[in-house]
Amino acid sequence: MQYDVVIGLEVHAELKTNTKCFCACKNQAGSEPNTNCCPVCVGLPGALPILNKFAVEQTIRAGLALGFDINRTAIFERKNYFYPDLAKAYQISQLVKPICVHGSLRVGDKVIPIHRIHLEEDAGKLVHGADGNTLIDYNRGGVPLIELVTEALQEPHIESAEEAIAFLEKLRQIYIYAGVSDCLIEKGQMRADVNVSLKPKGSSTYGTKVEMKNIMGFKSVYRAIKYEIERQRDILDDGGVIEQETRKWDDDKGENFTLRTKENSQDYRYFPDPDLLAVEISDAEVERIKKSMPILPDELKARYMNEFGLSEYDADVLLQFKHVSDFFNECVAEYNQPKNVCNWLTTEIMARIKTETGAGPILISKQNLLWLIKNVDDKKINRLNAKEVLSKVWGTNLNSEAVAKQNNWIIDIDNGALDGIVKKVVDSNPNVVAQFKAEADPKILNYLVGQVMKEVRGKASAADVMAKIKELLG
Ligand SMILES: [Zn+2]
Repeated sequence: MQYDVVIGLEVHAELKTNTKCFCACKNQAGSEPNTNCCPVCVGLPGALPILNKFAVEQTIRAGLALGFDINRTAIFERKNYFYPDLAKAYQISQLVKPICVHGSLRVGDKVIPIHRIHLEEDAGKLVHGADGNTLIDYNRGGVPLIELVTEALQEPHIESAEEAIAFLEKLRQIYIYAGVSDCLIEKGQMRADVNVSLKPKGSSTYGTKVEMKNIMGFKSVYRAIKYEIERQRDILDDGGVIEQETRKWDDDKGENFTLRTKENSQDYRYFPDPDLLAVEISDAEVERIKKSMPILPDELKARYMNEFGLSEYDADVLLQFKHVSDFFNECVAEYNQPKNVCNWLTTEIMARIKTETGAGPILISKQNLLWLIKNVDDKKINRLNAKEVLSKVWGTNLNSEAVAKQNNWIIDIDNGALDGIVKKVVDSNPNVVAQFKAEADPKILNYLVGQVMKEVRGKASAADVMAKIKELLG
């Protein structure tokens, strides 16, 4: 039987703030365990939460970046459940009146509707030791977290693992550019819950959904969705019934298993937190945040393509990492040759910074890189040698110009001398010339160019040499 796949996403992202959501402890990943803690965030009785205004502002910023309506009154509620990483046995979250409602995100040709974004606190972290003991680090407890929930039961919705990943990647890019979260996936700063259901092709009745929580990494999300679609298809094809439940994705085994049958929001006994007043958000506040919004990827992409004449592919490569597009913007502000700068960034620089989990820092200064680009453009150094300079300067304190001079790579050969060398090489290779004249294939001339470059020890522009050879041969 043919099925339609319906996928819903709940995406958690840790907000970029100095302090936690309801206390003044540092919001800082990588600290010694249990050093960023106080009576509020470890849930000691009687400790009172104070809302971090900037966390609300960041949530509004995330909402505005995705076209959300901002509720003028938002309420914090207690979501009651027990787990060792949640010391007070409830999480401060939002159910009835979240900060952001009704947004959307464009993925390819589809505009995926998003139900809501709410602000809540993160839980601590359980660290399972090799000795079988489990330790708890409460540093993460109380860190501000936004949860985004897509509208799975509306058209259009996410229909494949590929679309889900495209959605997550775009969302991550927008959060990073908006400055609301660093979204470092390996540090758990962005996590996704996925729900999957199948319905007979074309049917308007939705099937029973199965949820998989806290999947780390987009590759795992992709595999988990693929697996779950197949699992449900097999059950339905055999005439079985899908149980509404939460399943745990085991990335090592490449399969999932039942964690618990699905709980409802009633099970959490949500009620307004009596320690926190409703949050009133004024029009003026929303306007102020709107004006402070940084430029977002879609807008930058349009500028790269329309103003700078870059291809869509190049624009996408530059925008993939914010520090790369920032660097590009700075370079172009100083040297208005966007296409040339882009070529260097998308090839040489990209090749050096790409790592397994994303991108590392750019280890050459703007001045050093621009010196290379300008001097290649001005034919003062050939491209091959410029790449050599880049390799030597990368990650060091060396200076491009000094390295080029030291290696005798600055092109200072005068035109007359170069003409002489070109003539000498052409005269001493009559066979190549004859072959070129017979076949008229310019590729044959590359050999002569190589010979000239050898003679001048790379201190000429290959394009110039080629032009001179062609001129000489008519
Ligand atoms: Zn605290």
